Amino acid sequence: MKAFHHYNARSIDQALSLIKDHDGQARFIAGGTDLLGVLKDDILPRYPLAIINIKTIPGLDEIEEKKDGTITIGALSKLAHVAGSPVIQKHLPALVEAAQAVATPEIRNMGTIGGNLCQDTRCWYYRYPHQMGGRIQCFRKGKGPCLALKGDNRYHSIAGGKGCVAVCPSDTAIALVALDARIVIIGPQGEREIPIMDFYTNMGTILKPDEILKTIIIPPVLAESKQIFLKFTLRKPIDFAVVSVASLIKEEDGMCTDVRIALGAVAPTPVRAYSAEDMLRGNSIDTALAEEAAQQAVKGFKPLSMNAYKIEITKTLIKRSLVQ
Ligand SMILES: Cc1cc2nc3c(=O)[nH]c(=O)nc-3n(C[C@H](O)[C@H](O)[C@H](O)COP(=O)(O)OP(=O)(O)OC[C@H]3O[C@@H](n4cnc5c(N)ncnc54)[C@H](O)[C@@H]3O)c2cc1C
Repeated sequence: MKAFHHYNARSIDQALSLIKDHDGQARFIAGGTDLLGVLKDDILPRYPLAIINIKTIPGLDEIEEKKDGTITIGALSKLAHVAGSPVIQKHLPALVEAAQAVATPEIRNMGTIGGNLCQDTRCWYYRYPHQMGGRIQCFRKGKGPCLALKGDNRYHSIAGGKGCVAVCPSDTAIALVALDARIVIIGPQGEREIPIMDFYTNMGTILKPDEILKTIIIPPVLAESKQIFLKFTLRKPIDFAVVSVASLIKEEDGMCTDVRIALGAVAPTPVRAYSAEDMLRGNSIDTALAEEAAQQAVKGFKPLSMNAYKIEITKTLIKRSLVQ
């Protein structure tokens, strides 16, 4: 790794002021489980001159249940803390399952939920270490075409992508999409709150380099709704999702009155299966309908040369999540 200055920010204001002082040549660090790998492999277009630690800002790691049932999660909450929180365990089992599905206990003890949402993509062309024979350039790095389009794309998008077909690697993002979460961002312009679906773009997130992801807000979950997060990986103990699905269903008198299905690792952003949801709403869910909905969810998906198998996995996970 190259040398950089390291600052422990004591407040959001101080963190924002430090990042401003470095004029785009600094980065925020939370648990460091993603950023340190990115720095070691030297994949950023410009190596940062300074790293600003935001874990040292008090109050950004709290999990709270409001009187109306809204749950807020500080972005600096460790993944292990999220998975083990009694409030999250009581109301948001899909998020518990997603947080527990991330990596290893060591990484969940270091990595934060905010860092999990902001982490860089895992595309093997983009992440190729600079020191192993020189930098591999690609569309995401700002030079040349996306190498996965004509290369080894077995883990890439099956639902398109503008220029780059790397998938969103975050597990917690998928559960949070099914839970209709909103996120609070703070920067030099002040604070703004947006739906989590609007956070992701084809090339990562809308977060500007001088902004901090502060809080995740989860609206009260529908009473008696059921939630699930399922993830298909190649290696069982530690691996990124080949495909993941988070579903939330509410039923009354055997009828589905509300449903949200979120798909992970199928596209550069999390995907909501809106047309499958429409098919389920107002009906009684059985295996046949779950299968039809799964079929509907992948309509229009366009696999690349090596990843049509992900369509089958997506359908199976959707069906399984609905039936379970
Ligand atoms: C071996 C391994 C296996 C993994 N497996 C999985 C997996 O199965 N599923 C999965 O979802 N993830 C997986 N991950 C990724 C892991 O979850 C992330 O590395 C971790 O969640 C990042 O959190 P962090 O706090 O360490 O972020 P950091 O590494 O500190 O930061 C990551 C990025 O986010 C930015 N950032 C962090 N927090 C904020 C904030 N609050 N505001 C603004 N910017 C911020 C940083 O600037 C940096 O660019 C794996 C990682 C490893 C190393």
